[in-house]
Amino acid sequence: MNTSVMLPAVHVRAPGMLTLVLRVGPAGADGDHQLATVYQAVSLHEDVVATPAEEITVSTTGPWADRVADDETNLACRAARLLAEASGTSTGVHLQITKRVPVGGGMAGGSADAAAALLACDLLWQTGLAREELGHLAAELGADVPFALTGGTAVALGRGDRLTPALARGCYHWVLGIRAQGLSTGEVFTEWDRLHPDPEPVPHIDDAVMAALISGDPHRLAEVLGNDLDDAAGNLAPAVQQVQQVLADSPALASLVAGSGPTVAALAPDHPTAVEIAETLRTARVADHVEVVTGPAPGARLLESVREDEA
Ligand code: ATP
Repeated sequence: MNTSVMLPAVHVRAPGMLTLVLRVGPAGADGDHQLATVYQAVSLHEDVVATPAEEITVSTTGPWADRVADDETNLACRAARLLAEASGTSTGVHLQITKRVPVGGGMAGGSADAAAALLACDLLWQTGLAREELGHLAAELGADVPFALTGGTAVALGRGDRLTPALARGCYHWVLGIRAQGLSTGEVFTEWDRLHPDPEPVPHIDDAVMAALISGDPHRLAEVLGNDLDDAAGNLAPAVQQVQQVLADSPALASLVAGSGPTVAALAPDHPTAVEIAETLRTARVADHVEVVTGPAPGARLLESVREDEA
């Protein structure tokens, strides 16, 4: 470890994500399904401020703070511990998380916390690890963590961890219908297995999806959006279907469940229409929270490192 000047605080921001396409294949012997996914990072962020401490600890604020444990099971803590072991760091860290991504909402907020914690601790401890090594540690923490580091728009295969950046133009406007009570990813896949006993052997992403992303045209993207987990998430959380019914009568170009749900994402043609759709959802009272976001957003990044005299 490089023991030169240690920063008093490092502030990193990492994005939540939407799955623009999620195709599910059969489960392997380990129970994990083969997936083919197009991810897009969006402007609903997790902030992590890392400060030096004796131990590795975490505290959480923000709208979803009471839904996660502030102990060693927190993914941000696990990320810090893994990095300390990999880099031989003995200094601790306190991680202050501001949680804006719904917990168990299918937007990989926990993975965003892990990615933000990895980068923040790497900068705080000045480990000297290459970005590629951080990527390996990210993959050890969870299938979605590498994407939270890189952000943008990407295709993922395998368990969701074999990532390739996608050529994507434009800025997309999304409206999120969020349910306070999350869904367990494992339970959604169990329901999916029940509904689909004979899945496509190797899930893949159609060329039309890549062409739509290159066009930058939300109308073309709307035609190719799709999540195979839609019906399973809708069975477990009927609010998903209510949100989709309201969206069907709105100017939304298309809507789909985010990841394993229950968040529903609606694609709008532009920002003013996104605001109008959000208002429609709020008035219908079918979602607990409604957000307007844009994508693609950048991956985990340093916002500021607080100087000694400001700490
Ligand atoms: P997944 O990442 O499994 O697809 P998700 O995106 O629906 O799930 P997350 O909020 O990322 O949901 O996390 C799901 C679970 O991870 C929660 O049940 C929570 O107990 C656990 N967890 C651990 N640390 C965190 C964290 N920092 N933020 C959110 N969840 C965390």
